[in-house]
Amino acid sequence: MNEGTHLTTDVLVIGGGTAGFGAAVAAGRQGLDVCLFEEGRKIGGVMAFCPGMPWGAAYPCDTIIGGLMEELSDRLFAMDPPAAAKRPCALENFGPEIQYDHDIATMTMFEMLEEAGVRVHLNTTAVAPVMAGKRIVGVEYFDRHGAHTISPRMVIDCSGDGDVSAKAGVPYTLGDDEGNMMGVTLSFQMIDADWSRVFAEDDPYFRRYAAKGIAAGRLHEDLAQLYLMKGFHKDTVFCNSVVIREVDGADPMEVTRATQEGRRRCQQLAQFLKEDIPGFENARMAYLGPTVGVRETRKLEGVYRVTGEDLARATKFHDGIVCCDNPIDDVMRASSNATHDAMVEEGAYYTIPFRSLVPKEIENLMFAGRIISADPIAFASVRGMPQCIAMGQATGTAAAIALRDGVSVQNVDPGKLVTALQAQKVRGLGGTTLTT
Ligand SMILES: Cc1cc2nc3c(=O)[nH]c(=O)nc-3n(C[C@H](O)[C@H](O)[C@H](O)COP(=O)(O)OP(=O)(O)OC[C@H]3O[C@@H](n4cnc5c(N)ncnc54)[C@H](O)[C@@H]3O)c2cc1C
Repeated sequence: MNEGTHLTTDVLVIGGGTAGFGAAVAAGRQGLDVCLFEEGRKIGGVMAFCPGMPWGAAYPCDTIIGGLMEELSDRLFAMDPPAAAKRPCALENFGPEIQYDHDIATMTMFEMLEEAGVRVHLNTTAVAPVMAGKRIVGVEYFDRHGAHTISPRMVIDCSGDGDVSAKAGVPYTLGDDEGNMMGVTLSFQMIDADWSRVFAEDDPYFRRYAAKGIAAGRLHEDLAQLYLMKGFHKDTVFCNSVVIREVDGADPMEVTRATQEGRRRCQQLAQFLKEDIPGFENARMAYLGPTVGVRETRKLEGVYRVTGEDLARATKFHDGIVCCDNPIDDVMRASSNATHDAMVEEGAYYTIPFRSLVPKEIENLMFAGRIISADPIAFASVRGMPQCIAMGQATGTAAAIALRDGVSVQNVDPGKLVTALQAQKVRGLGGTTLTT
């Protein structure tokens, strides 16, 4: 491809994280021509930056949310040997989660994109929209060959950070009411640990050991709770522990600094685990993330902004597109601690409304995943990867409806969208409950 190439497509999906995967596969299966731009070298987004991170919140009320999440996990469950498993989460207030083999899962996601006919462009960064009134008529992007433009009929921003949407004029907020964003995390795994000894004590946070390490100056003071979880493969331990506070995850320099600081803290922690926690003596560090995982940057303003009160009331919106019961998984904004208080009562769940993925003004733009329109409390609950896949699936499906019906995204018929998602086996929508 030469500098200045001009592409056209029905749907441009920006970002190949879990939301972008859902959006692109869903739109491709609707017979649309889809281009997916991912600035990194891999599909998965945060899932690829934190290899081995479990898919949480896939089972509200112990029933899978359905749709592409169910299809992806079923493909992995059915492999010989299975490449994924449903397991209880050891942490408070989280339901069951899906553990998976990271490499097989990303390969399977790529295959699903291929099967849906999606044109995947890795190492390709969308930079700015070209506007004509309330429509995006082009998106400027670059790859190693230089700068180019693509003319899409519909844009779905799944970039997590929403640069293009913000430049298109969509208002946004950052972090909580004071602008504090959740901490970023560099993860790693310990392989060749001995599960039977590592997890012998009844404290999922390993607080006693952590306190000793901090007191001795061998662990950073933010490591008072060690988030150590059984990985998918026997005797592997996923370490989701090293959090760096007050990092702007949309600033490349800050991400670089945090990643390097994270590497130092991960190495220190791995050493501590080997020396101080029984069962890690023969283990070693592996799968250190290539970069920190960023939880939160921009939250775009949608037609509807989901609030913590909506979720706590277990609201089932008429345009609900996925079910969720995730706790308020809040991680170290400014000086606060990590908390995961229950969002809804046990046995209850809420749905995420399609309107929180639709901007107020721009007629051919949607967004999905962690840039959803949500207040800080709701955001802390809705952001799990299964829900991001499902949000993407809803926008990809809505793109087809909007283009076929010749309407703006604001005028997509919610009844049609919910019916289409039900036909794709997304569960618990449109007056049905999760178990029906
Ligand atoms: C440390 C950490 C732990 C977590 N733990 C869990 C957990 O245990 N279970 C769970 O379910 N969820 C967990 N989450 C939440 C979940 O991982 C994220 O909310 C979710 O993955 C976000 O998906 P996304 O697709 O919206 O965004 P992202 O995963 O951030 O994907 C966005 C993608 O867009 C690309 N991109 C950005 N800008 C551009 C551009 N301009 N052009 C092209 N591409 C671009 C990025 O490279 C990236 O690949 C965790 C998150 C973090 C950070």
